[in-house]
Amino acid sequence: MEVDLDGGCLCGGVRYHYAGELGGALGAVTQCHCGQCRKAQGGPVSVAPAAAAGFSVTRGEGLIRSYESSPGKQRAFCGVCASPLWSRRTADPAVMRLRLGSLDAAPPALRIEAHIFIEDAPDWDATAQDAPRYPGLEPGLS
Ligand SMILES: [Zn+2]
Repeated sequence: MEVDLDGGCLCGGVRYHYAGELGGALGAVTQCHCGQCRKAQGGPVSVAPAAAAGFSVTRGEGLIRSYESSPGKQRAFCGVCASPLWSRRTADPAVMRLRLGSLDAAPPALRIEAHIFIEDAPDWDATAQDAPRYPGLEPGLS
């Protein structure tokens, strides 16, 4: 889908703008359950491919840190609040994989199209869909 949106990290130090295709011809919108994403983000992470040509950091370029989690794959995050922002492969520099959690407001039509590396998901993740859902905190907490 074509989008025009803004995003950034938790502390607000890093802000970005993206205009262009999100997912679609660039690839599926996925939720990744691999062990690397679990460690990097604390759980499964939702990701959409975006065109680097339409992406710009509008604030906090100097705050962005990057970790090469496997050869040629960089995971970008805020150096202040540690929010995951995107990943990028040196072999495929034209495509960025935006962390959907960093979007200020996701397009209403945006959907996860595939769960990947599901074989790596621990039981707590694999069974998460069966748990009860609450609009706020779980009962007993306020
Ligand atoms: Zn931050």
